[in-house]
Amino acid sequence: MAFNFEDLKAGAKDILDKAAVKANEAIDYSKTQIDRGQLRAKIKEEYCKLGKICYDMHDAGDDRTGEMKQIISIIKDLKTKLEEADSAVNAKKTKECKFCGTANDAVNVYCSKCGEKL
Ligand SMILES: [Zn+2]
Repeated sequence: MAFNFEDLKAGAKDILDKAAVKANEAIDYSKTQIDRGQLRAKIKEEYCKLGKICYDMHDAGDDRTGEMKQIISIIKDLKTKLEEADSAVNAKKTKECKFCGTANDAVNVYCSKCGEKL
């Protein structure tokens, strides 16, 4: 059997392509983690503002319900974004079996279907 350099090259390219995809996934993943952290911080901040307005309103006897409603809608919006980011991360918490294609839990060492090492 003759040595086929083209096959070797194609194989190496395939491995490099897969490595590049993995690296991009890792970048996406850490970016999502940062986004989630920022979203949580922003939600906390908005809750703080809401609390302050509520305090001031009761302290001074002003009606600032309008401002409060605005902040509540901002918080709702941020929460929706956070939920989306959370589910994106949860969806990524799987390891696909190279042999049977089953999506396994990321913590699994062996495939739950065929038992191959992941
Ligand atoms: Zn499997």
